[in-house]
Amino acid sequence: MAAFESLHVWKTPEIRERLDWYFQVSVNKLPAKYLLCRRVPIYDELDGLTEEELWRLHDKAASEFHRIRQGIREGSITFKELRPEKPNLLDVKAALVKKMLRHCNFCRWNCRVDRTTGGKHGTCQLESTTRVSSYFHHRGEELPIRGTKGSGTIFFTSCNMRCVFCQNADISHDKDNGVVFTSQMLAWAMWQLRMEGCHNINLVGGEPTIHLHTIVEAINMLRFFKETYAEAMDAKADIYYPYSLDTRNAYYEGEFNTPILWNSNMYMSGETMKILRELVDIWLPDFKFGNNKCAIWLSRTPWYFETVSQNHRQIYEWGEDIVIRHLVMPGHLECCTKPVLRWIAENMPGTPVNIMDQYHPDCYCNPSDPRFDKRYSDMARYPTEEEILESYRYARSLGINFEEITFEKSLRFHPLFLR
Ligand code: SF4
Repeated sequence: MAAFESLHVWKTPEIRERLDWYFQVSVNKLPAKYLLCRRVPIYDELDGLTEEELWRLHDKAASEFHRIRQGIREGSITFKELRPEKPNLLDVKAALVKKMLRHCNFCRWNCRVDRTTGGKHGTCQLESTTRVSSYFHHRGEELPIRGTKGSGTIFFTSCNMRCVFCQNADISHDKDNGVVFTSQMLAWAMWQLRMEGCHNINLVGGEPTIHLHTIVEAINMLRFFKETYAEAMDAKADIYYPYSLDTRNAYYEGEFNTPILWNSNMYMSGETMKILRELVDIWLPDFKFGNNKCAIWLSRTPWYFETVSQNHRQIYEWGEDIVIRHLVMPGHLECCTKPVLRWIAENMPGTPVNIMDQYHPDCYCNPSDPRFDKRYSDMARYPTEEEILESYRYARSLGINFEEITFEKSLRFHPLFLR
């Protein structure tokens, strides 16, 4: 923890202040949001309630959650004085997502299919089973996220978008890859990663949204485990490394504590946003396209811009910790990069942004891949140096908070190394 706390990135006020909640949960000086959810009582039995009734209970309890969280932040309420309750806000969330799964509205596609019957499939092609492609200590995320011991990253299979350049297509385009995970296995894998020293639990894919039911149930089961789920280890990608389990990595007032990180394309529904608001300690969203035409052409995703911008705006208005990722795509500077950066500057000033230069032609855009599609030939190249530099110049002219996060990840175009 000491090495993580002394990272230079935390000495930069525009990062430290923006990520204060996440930082403090990560070093176990504050409880994760899910621990607070467990302390918000519900004064009703949940069995037999309709979805509408559950939402009413949820919204009322969520207000209480925010009052408590504010008190914890200000020091006017102590965690010790709060008792675990049953049922609680987290139980209501778990009950709600179970109901949502029966007419799936997890994401903006709003397919309304019942994913529990094995009948008609929605866009993500998933039923209720969750698969994990791999999980491990990720050493390649942004410095505040990967820290010194890695980000506890869990890759879920399948996706609700179909990006032709997907750099994770083996995971996101093949819904049957990986290992079937129950909620218990998922909770155990989260526990294992955190006990091994990971600074957060990084839920990604594919896309985590489409596995919302398993994830919420798993968070509800988080605790110190005594048993082992050997089946989960089949998906552990860094099993060769002898990490040891240490309670001190995850200990807050006698309870298992870890920040939850949502690493997502942000194409989720308003209902999913409401479920996640009191569970996610730090958001790591992608903001890819600056207009719907590019989103449809490159990701077969309608209503992209309004959905994703609205979800970003909400996080900002809620005052949550967030780092936005934008991938510079070849030939998409004017239509995507600049409009996205402009939107962030106007709507989320001060938010840390990673302007990523690592686009490479992959999947349908890779001429040496059997899936290559000639229609995407213009995407079959790396962004030029000038495209990357112009992205930075433009971000700088807008006053975007990007340099600390971006240049730490990519020294290729750092001002110091350019002639
Ligand atoms: S998660 Fe999204 S794409 Fe999948 S069934 Fe639900 S609404 Fe459709």
